[in-house]
Parts: sequence; structure tokens; C-alpha cells
Amino acid sequence: MSKHPLLEGLNPQQTAAITADLGPVLVLAGPGSGKTSVLTRRIAWLIQEHHVPHHRIMAVTFTNKAAGEMRSRVEKLLDSKLRGLQIGTFHSTCARFLRRDAQILGYRDNWVIYDSDDSQRLIKAIVADLGMDPKENPPRRINNRISAAKNEMILPEQYQAMSRFDERVATVYAAYQRELKTANAMDFGDLLLNMALLLQKSDERRKDYQDRFLAVLVDEFQDTNTVQYQLVKLLSAPQQFVFVVGDEDQAIYRFRGADYRNLLRFRKDYPEPAIVLLEQNYRSTQTILDVAGAVINNNSNRTPKNLHTSRGQGEPIALHEAADEQYEADFVLEQVRKLRESASIAYSDIAVIYRTNAQSRAFEEAFIRARLPYVLLSGFGFYQRREIKDLLAYLRLIYNPDDRVSFERVINTPARGIGKKSLQAFADWVTSEDLALSDALNKLYYDDHNPLSTAVKGKFLQFVNLLATWTEMAQPGGLGDLFQHIVKQTRYDLHLEKISQHEDEALDRAQNLSEFYGMLMKADDSGQTLHDFLDERTLYTTADSLEEDDDKVRLSTFHSIKGLEFPAVFITGLEQDNLPHRNAIAEGKEGIEEECRLFYVGITRAEDHLFLSYAMQRRPFGGSSINGISRFLADLPAHLLDGSPLTLAYLRQARAVAAPTQWEPRHPIFERQPKTIAPPKQSIAPANPAIRSQFAAFKAPQKPMLRIGSRATHKQFGGGLVIGIDPGGDIVSVSFDQHQLKKVFAEDLTPLVE
Ligand code: ATP
Ligand code: MG
Repeated sequence: MSKHPLLEGLNPQQTAAITADLGPVLVLAGPGSGKTSVLTRRIAWLIQEHHVPHHRIMAVTFTNKAAGEMRSRVEKLLDSKLRGLQIGTFHSTCARFLRRDAQILGYRDNWVIYDSDDSQRLIKAIVADLGMDPKENPPRRINNRISAAKNEMILPEQYQAMSRFDERVATVYAAYQRELKTANAMDFGDLLLNMALLLQKSDERRKDYQDRFLAVLVDEFQDTNTVQYQLVKLLSAPQQFVFVVGDEDQAIYRFRGADYRNLLRFRKDYPEPAIVLLEQNYRSTQTILDVAGAVINNNSNRTPKNLHTSRGQGEPIALHEAADEQYEADFVLEQVRKLRESASIAYSDIAVIYRTNAQSRAFEEAFIRARLPYVLLSGFGFYQRREIKDLLAYLRLIYNPDDRVSFERVINTPARGIGKKSLQAFADWVTSEDLALSDALNKLYYDDHNPLSTAVKGKFLQFVNLLATWTEMAQPGGLGDLFQHIVKQTRYDLHLEKISQHEDEALDRAQNLSEFYGMLMKADDSGQTLHDFLDERTLYTTADSLEEDDDKVRLSTFHSIKGLEFPAVFITGLEQDNLPHRNAIAEGKEGIEEECRLFYVGITRAEDHLFLSYAMQRRPFGGSSINGISRFLADLPAHLLDGSPLTLAYLRQARAVAAPTQWEPRHPIFERQPKTIAPPKQSIAPANPAIRSQFAAFKAPQKPMLRIGSRATHKQFGGGLVIGIDPGGDIVSVSFDQHQLKKVFAEDLTPLVE
């Protein structure tokens, strides 16, 4: 019997999922097993075989881009245009529904959506109106609490205060909702919450929506939060033709209130759902799957899975150690070129993944320099980011006091109480008098014929004085300090919090500034002038898009790469404190497990070629740091890795000291435990002669000698065991008794005589 065309080439489990009876269906499966493909075909199946009209189907995806792709796939499968088919993200879908129905909730027809800036400003005004101290009640923090409450469908009157601060949040929350209503506005959280409330409140509208949508399908179900879960439940009742697909191991939005336990809840809330497990992976080589499995197996509370593929073993995973982030970017570039030349892989088939947006900077610069095309999958390019543009504008103005564009950007950023009208009057005066900006600023205070009030002139003068101090500081070797002064004296740190809606956004912006600071420190090290520094940056700020076609390497964070696949993937920045990120480490086990899932999501994007890299040195805020390698690397099966003998030896040493797998409590070198590792009787120099000779070739460091296997003390980290020394002899890997495995400068170590 020949197969139905929609089932061509599918395995029996996939077929079972697509052809399951109308009713609740839960597809649970690992990455690359065809969850999204099955969901897409299920839509086509419902239309073709169950004759569900396409405009009575609703599908939810994670990004608008994914929604677009899904629509075109279904249209291709059925060879027809399906305009009324509702596919979108939760937010876009709800906004669309509310556009029509918000008046039921008391909004006027022309309601607007408030973005982060608007919400933040409103909360700030409310805090002030209520006479609360803004320092004790930072609007951003309150906003976070309010968003979290909305995700949990907690209304102001239901908000349970567990602390004094919470009590104030409750008060602000109530006032905020009233003000939003008066302004006829909804914030992002309201889009989901209001839709759920509408469905709960209005029997009539609920019935309309339930009648309209005969079938509801949700991709990436593990990342839904409470309000999203409720929306699905409300919309899919009473017939419950609901089809959800997910993978608990890929839950990466816990910080936005997502709860992978919704997968379990689903089984309880929908009686006897058809549960389909897909087992075969069609995306990756077996080596990639084995590495992914080794990484995720450390997490607790999960169903163990064996990922297998018929794609064959494939090539080993490349592991690369770079001296710093620039060398890391150079490594990626070199490999990208090779992939293109020797394996004919298109640029668009290559993804470079990093943990924080700030890390894109080194890659963007390298790609621009090499004139290779790239595109960022999320966010803006480093130099397009608001905070970077602001700081660059300060530096430009310091360098060139007549730069009006930069002046206009920063004169009231952060706010100095200089209004638009005053600025316009100033600009008109400068133009009418035909003055250079610097002359105008100098003349302003003493010239009675200019249009500004004395108070505003005073504010200008303060700014001019600051500029003068900074100009004096702008000497080679002092650019890092100059940056610190600008941030401090303008209170740019507070401004940063103000313009960020969520804690993670503020952190992200702060991290971008750290990255920028690191660049200035580097410029200081090499004796650059401010002019040299700015000149170099101009190259990167003006080379916005090299060409228009789509064959570009994808640069992305882990969060934005979800659901996609690429023949070649680079996972970069595999250092302790970066992945897992230090904030997650501070959160403890749950935080680290989420980071582990991020790594897992990254690895499983790769089809054939996977490259892992770490940089021994990165420059975050406050100077250079040498991080240990990511704890996740120690769990990778050695026989699947390929890299320089030294890198592999380093990893082997790390592994030898580490107990295998399991975060707690069996990871002695990665946990800060007051436990002494006894010095081994013999040196643990590598057995491989090639590596040994590399170790032997070191220049003798100062006496007494640091040796592999001997003990040493570090000024900051205390005693530890030397487990590796880099060829130059400057950098030493030490397993510290009180600390994790780290690379440190040899000069900071004092060898202990045994
Ligand atoms: P993720 O968890 O990463 O979102 P997924 O489970 O959604 O992954 P898909 O993206 O749907 O997986 O599929 C992965 C790849 O496998 C796609 O390229 C898809 O076309 C292919 N694929 C799925 N099923 C089959 C099959 N039966 N035969 C051949 N290729 C398949
Ligand atoms: Mg998918």
C-alpha cells in the first residue's frame, strides 16, 4: 500500500503523531527528532484529511520568524495559499485578538502597546507620586515583579506581599494598572493576561473563540509559562483538539517564568492524551548526539534518553583553546573559510553561538575586517546598541568638541533636566550666530543675548566643566580610567537600569559596557590615543551591512538559536563563569542546570561539524580575568574530541582531577569545598612523548621552579596543585584546594617546596 503523500518518508512514531485521532496529543522528544516537522504536517493533515478549514486552526511558535517558516511549509505541503491560518507567537496572536475585543475589558478602540521605556517611565512616576523613595524602590525591580505576577496571572488585588518591599510592589502594581487603563494602554504582559481574562470573563467571547479554533497546536511547549498554558487550555476547550510538542531538556526560559512542568501538567489536565515519543534524530551525526547526551545526563529530574541517528558517526568535535576573545574570533574565521572552501558549506549554513550579546563584538569586528558576511539573529550589532552609541558619543565629543551630532546625543543622556525646547533654542542660536559648537558652549554663559534661561545655562555649564575634565584625562594609557569617570560622573549606571525593562536586559547592557571598557583597557595596553581608538571604531560603526543577499554567517545567543539547525556550529566562550554564567552559578543547582540545557540546545543545532572553543583571557568589567574552562567541558567523552595535543592534555588533566559527572556533590574541583587534594607522589606530566617534549621545552621560570604535579600558593586563591603549564611558562593551570580549576599567571604563584 503506498503511503499518503503527507506521510512520505516518516517513521512510524512520526506517522502516529500526525495521524492521531482528534483529541489531546503530546509529543515528547529530543532535539532534531522532527517535532516541528510533525507539527507542521499535522496542520496539513487536519486540513486535508479531517477537513478542518484552515482558518479554524491556530498554531503557536516561539518567534515570528519561525511562524513565517511554518506557514510557508504548510502552504507548500498543500500547494495553496492559506491566508486565514492563524500562526504566530503568543504575543502577536493575543495582540491580534485584542485589537478587536479589548473594549470588552474597558479599553477604547485605539489602545496602544507600551514598550519597555514607557512602562518604566510610568512606574517611576507612580513611585514618585506615592512619595516612595526611588532608591529603595527601583522602578526596574518593581517592573520585574509586576511582569512576573502577570506571567503567573496574579492581579494586583491577589498579589501576596511576603515582605515590606512586596507590599510596596502591590501598591505600585495597582496604581500602574489604573494608569495604564487611563492611558488606554497595555504593556507586553497585559497582552497575554488580558486575553486570558477576556476568555475567562466573557462566556460569549470564549465560546466564539472556542468555536472558531477547532484545533490548537503549540511548538516548544516546555517553554510556556502559566498564562500561556491557561490560554492554550481556554482556547482548546471543550473539544480539546490540542497538539503540543516539547522537550524538557530544552527548557531555557525559566527566567521569564516558563515552567517545563507544564508538560507534566498537560497529562493531568487532558484526560488520556495520546503520548508519542520520537526517538530517532535526523539532524546530527552520532558523535554530536553522544556529546550532547554526555552533557545533559548530569541534570537531575529528567527522563534519560538515548539519542540515536542513522546518519553515521561523523567527524570528531573540534576543541580549541584561544589566548583571548580576538584569537577565538580569528579561529572561527579561519574555520569558516575552510568549511566554505573544502566542504562547500554556504555562509548561511554556519552558526556562531555565544552566551551573552556582548560577546558578539569580537566576532563582528573580525568578520568586518575580513569582509565576510554575517548577520545577528537577535538584538542589534554591538555598535548599534544604545549604551555603546552613548559612550562612543561621549568619547567623540571629548575628542572633537565641535561634534554636534554626538553633543545632541549626550547633552541630556542621562537626563540633566535640559528640555527639548531649550535644546532647540540653543541650536537655533548656534546656527544664527554661525558658531562652532565649542565656541558656542564657551560663550553661552557670558553672552546675554542668547535665548537660554539662567537655570538652563547653569546646567550647560556643569556639562562643559565635565567635558573639560574629561578632555584633560584623555591621554594614552588613561582611556580606561576616562571611561570609568564618565560612567561614574554621569551616573550612567543608573540610567542603564532605567532604560531596561527587565533585570536580564539591564545585565545585558551592563555586560556590553564591560566589553567596551575591556576594549579601552586593551587600547591602553598598546598605548593607543583616543584618536586611534575612535578611528578604528569608525570602521566597524559604518560597515553596517556589507551586502544584501542572505548568504551570511549567523551570529546568535543560545536563546535565539532554539529550534534552528545548521551544518556547522561554533559554540564559543566555554569558560567557567561565562557558560555556566556567573549569575546562574550564584543561583545554585537550578541555575547551573538551566545553563547546561543552554549548552545542550547549542550542541544539538549542529548537523555535521561542531566546534567548541574557550578563551583563556577575556576582559570583563574591572580588568582582565583568566577563567577556568567551563565545568561542562570536563564531561565530554575524550574519544570524541579533536584538538591540539596541549588543549586535549589540559582537558584530560582537568578531568583527572574532577570526579565524573553529577553536579552535586561529586564535583570537587568545581565546587568551593575546603578539601585538600593531596599532592601525588609522582609528577603527572603527560605520558604522550609529543606533549611531554612541549612541556619540557619551557623556559625555566624563576626559582624555585613551578612543576606539574607540585604545589603552589596564589595570592588570591590560596594553595593548589599545578596541573599544567603553557608553553611560554607564563600561564599555569592550577587545581585550587578552595576553588575551582583556574589558569593564572605564573608570576602570581609561589611554588611550595615539598
Ligand atoms: P528541535 O528540538 O531542535 O526543535 P525538532 O524535534 O523540532 O528539533 P525538526 O526541526 O522538526 O526537529 O527536524 C529536524 C530535522 O530532521 C529537519 O531537517 C527535518 O526536516 C528532518 N526530519 C524530520 N523527520 C524526518 C524524517 N522522517 N526523514 C528525514 N528527515 C527528517
Ligand atoms: Mg523544533
